[in-house]
Amino acid sequence: MSVADCVFCKIVAGEIPCHRVFENERVLAFLDINPLSLGHTVLIPRAHAVRFEQLSEDDAAALAGAIGPLARRILSAVGSEDYNLLQNNGASAGQVVMHVHIHIIPRRANDGLGFRWKPKPGAPEELSTLASRISA
Ligand code: AMP
Repeated sequence: MSVADCVFCKIVAGEIPCHRVFENERVLAFLDINPLSLGHTVLIPRAHAVRFEQLSEDDAAALAGAIGPLARRILSAVGSEDYNLLQNNGASAGQVVMHVHIHIIPRRANDGLGFRWKPKPGAPEELSTLASRISA
């Protein structure tokens, strides 16, 4: 898929409408069109990149810096105290829109959203070998 076909690039360019909630020179945030909860917001860099590790350091820093202030405003607007950050990279990780984005998902007690994760204890030797490989 080319940048010209990217839905989020079209939103940045104003070619597709959105409900904008925050923007600065590097990032833009708008309400998710299929919200998981009231206030579900998508935060994106203006510059196209598919995956988080492909971002410039400046765009990564701009995204990270925007999360806190934006989350506070969203929570205040919808009356939630808690939220999830979700950031999918690649199809097998659930990424559908191939332009980096961070989901900010307000949560409430017993909201029924749940989690899909099923953690298992890691084997100590495997964890140790893996930590060496990653940090080498
Ligand atoms: P992901 O599965 O992480 O790629 O999530 C993509 C998100 O983008 C989904 O939650 C969609 O509902 C959302 N989305 C797709 N198109 C639009 C749009 N035009 N405006 C707002 N949100 C969108």
